[in-house]
Amino acid sequence: MFDIEAIRNDFPILGQQIYGKPLVYLDNAATTQKPQCVIDAVNHYYACDNANVHRGVHALSERATADYEAARKIIAGFFNARSEREVIFTRGTTEAINLVASAWGGANVRAGDEVVITHMEHHSNIVPWQMLCERVGATLKVAPINEQGELIIDAFEALLNEHTKFVGVVHMSNALGTINPVAEIIAKAHAVGATVLVDGAQAAAHLAVDLQALDADFYVTSAHKMYGPTGVGVLIGRESILDAMPPYQGGGDMIRMVTFEKTEYNELPYKFEAGTPHIAGAIGFGKAIEYIQGIGFDLIGKREKELLAYATAKAESFDGLRQIGTAGEKACVLSFVLAGVHPHDLGTIVDREGVAIRAGHHCAMPVMQFFKVPATARASFSIYNTKAEVDTLFAALQKAQAIFA
Ligand code: PMP
Repeated sequence: MFDIEAIRNDFPILGQQIYGKPLVYLDNAATTQKPQCVIDAVNHYYACDNANVHRGVHALSERATADYEAARKIIAGFFNARSEREVIFTRGTTEAINLVASAWGGANVRAGDEVVITHMEHHSNIVPWQMLCERVGATLKVAPINEQGELIIDAFEALLNEHTKFVGVVHMSNALGTINPVAEIIAKAHAVGATVLVDGAQAAAHLAVDLQALDADFYVTSAHKMYGPTGVGVLIGRESILDAMPPYQGGGDMIRMVTFEKTEYNELPYKFEAGTPHIAGAIGFGKAIEYIQGIGFDLIGKREKELLAYATAKAESFDGLRQIGTAGEKACVLSFVLAGVHPHDLGTIVDREGVAIRAGHHCAMPVMQFFKVPATARASFSIYNTKAEVDTLFAALQKAQAIFA
């Protein structure tokens, strides 16, 4: 049973009013709200256990370390990683991708090599690869998308060859909602010997991810898109690849032994966790995952599908609304433009009705260029949203349309 009232009550922020109207939070692709259990876990760390990890011999440090490492174990289990050594805490998806581009890319991508990404990537899975290619003289290739906002698989496959060193692909597009067939993409990339990174920033809160089944080399995500704190995320990598990679940053915790002549690096995962980590964030991330597990992806998937279908039907019958992204496989994102109303004006007007949506390029400018729009309005749904809130959104859109008529 999906008890929507109980779920909404878990999120204290949802009870508030904006300009005298109940908050309708539909900007979940930007960041999700946090349940009380996550807020409590972060508070508990600061109130009761605050100490640095892996260093102190005192009780607080031992408790902080135990909770930090317990979170890593929860995350490893959630994604079915092969071991906790494969789970590296980062500041988020962006840092995780930069880590891979810099450390793995720097060691493995050479002049003449090719790096393949897709046209629907977030800037954080474009720019680090562009920077790498510029630095080493490699070529960045972009797999095209169709009018529905789906990856054209044959065209993607046609880009693969013996020069392809790396493939980077988003699991679920934040700008379109498209879910990519990542298992198929990984298999095709592996067939030419390429290493694959999947950007799971959007997907991880909405669908079950089994990294062993997918056979991904790297999977990255951010806690704040999955009901956890900001400023923390993970890179989950294949142990043999991580072992062979040089460190990303140097500093405390990532070393075993330092002299001025030479430094011996720490074992995984600590080799890639230089400096004091976001301990409270990691603990909150673990709690957020337990929260998701408590509901389960069967219920989450069913509920979110219903909500998207409801919103999509409304969008289809709404005069002057053009949906951007109509993939057969998509989740939780309704991206659109409304004739005669700039998305930014739309965002501002619906905000006055208490409705929070995103307007802009969603850090995916090439997607905007493909659909020949400067920006879109985006409503993105989560487990705590309701059909009544979708109705409120469309009533607010109607108001906006009337103002600009
Ligand atoms: N990739 C995708 C698909 C995203 O949606 C986002 C966040 N909008 C990112 C990467 C970057 O995540 P973060 O800002 O948490 O590093």
